[in-house]
Amino acid sequence: MPKKFIPVAAPVLAGNEKQYVMDCLDSTWISSNGKYIGQFEEAFAAFCGVKHALSCCNGTVALHLALVALGIGPGDEVLVPTLTFIASANAVSYCGARPVFVDSEPNTWNIDPALLEARITKRTKAIMVVHLYGHPVDMDAIRAVADRHHLPIVEDAAEAHGATYKGRVAGSLGEIATFSFYGNKTLTTGEGGMVTTDDDDLAARVRLLKGQGMDITRRYWFPVIGYNYRMTNIVAAIGLAQLEQADFHLQARKNIAGWYEERLKDSPGIEMQGRETWAEPTCWMVSAVLDQTVPHSRDDVMIALRERGIDTRPIFYPMHVLPPYVESAAADSFPVADRLSQRGFNLPTWAGLSREDVDYVCDNLLDVIR
Ligand SMILES: *Cc1c(COP(=O)(O)O)cnc(C)c1O
Repeated sequence: MPKKFIPVAAPVLAGNEKQYVMDCLDSTWISSNGKYIGQFEEAFAAFCGVKHALSCCNGTVALHLALVALGIGPGDEVLVPTLTFIASANAVSYCGARPVFVDSEPNTWNIDPALLEARITKRTKAIMVVHLYGHPVDMDAIRAVADRHHLPIVEDAAEAHGATYKGRVAGSLGEIATFSFYGNKTLTTGEGGMVTTDDDDLAARVRLLKGQGMDITRRYWFPVIGYNYRMTNIVAAIGLAQLEQADFHLQARKNIAGWYEERLKDSPGIEMQGRETWAEPTCWMVSAVLDQTVPHSRDDVMIALRERGIDTRPIFYPMHVLPPYVESAAADSFPVADRLSQRGFNLPTWAGLSREDVDYVCDNLLDVIR
């Protein structure tokens, strides 16, 4: 065994997390009522610069709530980037609708705005964008297409807490947006999610749907079929404590991304996710893609790093190659996403990493790919 082991991700719970959780236990407010839920939602709305933030139990159901609130249903189509985590596509499927996949653009790896229009049909009801690995999408370009076709934009901001696009914060850029607080995300509650919006009607619908569809003013009266997608007070307590430390988490990731860039950006054999001048990303996962000069497979490089105590993850398999979606996407080609997913992997990225850790990863990576 190597003496060092650097996980690809780990939470840092260095603020009031423990104190607030103990407060929930001591007070017995452990279910989906309690002061931390409101406080977390209010603080998160302020963090994103939106009117409404609605907590829920994970980022996947946050997407489901957003889509149902927009009225997405059977027979509808939603444009989704093919290079994303499967939850983005699955949430569309949960509605009985069909995700229609769009390739990435080669610099930021995000959904390519130039390819959207060709995918729009009479059945298209929304555009879902994903700020991949924390780099915001080119929202103005996407907004232009969306407006031309009267389509709402859903932002899957699960990977982009605190990222900004032209000074505006992720989560405030679409009609409705969603976040995840899964254990490896920039701000975490273990499992958790949030829906953000400026739209009062959408917020009211999300609030209704996540609480079994029960009328807010009439107990046990259910005007619609809803879901139990609520967050608990304990989870919100952790979330509030994380959010209090947001500056620390964002700055730590910014430093780490800078150290990696310094070492790897101009290294032969390695391509990194680009950064646009209009973007201030939150670096969720630093990623490297091996170019054709590297004589090893991506998987072999990952195994070699693992033997040196360095944990990595492959870049997502694009949706169009996965069994639930391969058939529906068979007629289309996605050359950018294919290349990134075959040759790319995520490097350890979390707030507890030191400069020494990052140097250790980079030294070994550069050695392994020779
Ligand atoms: C993590 C993630 C999700 C899902 O979040 P969960 O909280 O794990 O359900 C959705 N979309 C993207 C892009 C993600 O990275």
